[in-house]
Amino acid sequence: MNYHQYYPVDVVNGPGTRCVLFVSGCIHECAGCYNKSTWRLNSGTPFTQEMEERIIADLNDTRIKRQGITLSGGDPLHPQNVPDILRLVKRIRAECEGKDIWVWTGYKLGELTAQQQEVVALINTLVDGKFVQALADPSLLWRGSSNQVIHYLR
Ligand code: SF4
Repeated sequence: MNYHQYYPVDVVNGPGTRCVLFVSGCIHECAGCYNKSTWRLNSGTPFTQEMEERIIADLNDTRIKRQGITLSGGDPLHPQNVPDILRLVKRIRAECEGKDIWVWTGYKLGELTAQQQEVVALINTLVDGKFVQALADPSLLWRGSSNQVIHYLR
């Protein structure tokens, strides 16, 4: 997996203060996408073991109280990203007590493959669906267009 940006402290991509990772790779090609540069899987920077360790350490850093992590992109549930995302969310569940995990995807919750569902079973919140320009609404919280749904899973 590659990624485009990692912000260790962010307050706009989900509730509270969070780590945010924007991964590479998206097949959805939504018109009006705000993040076209992330579409190619091989764009960005390789997501290394060091980055994974850094994220775990940041979530456990008691000097800045983070509510959790946001995984966005690109699409964290792109089939080629799922193995690395699954490993990361498993580690967060095991090693970062009390931290929540939010994931943004262009897929719909009801259409996910078994492999994608393995990730969803471990996260707190999934914001699903493509960005639809005709339904865009800047007043929506954590969604770009009104077709997208915030699923509170646990
Ligand atoms: S799912 Fe997100 S990143 Fe992918 S094309 Fe649509 S808006 Fe862009």
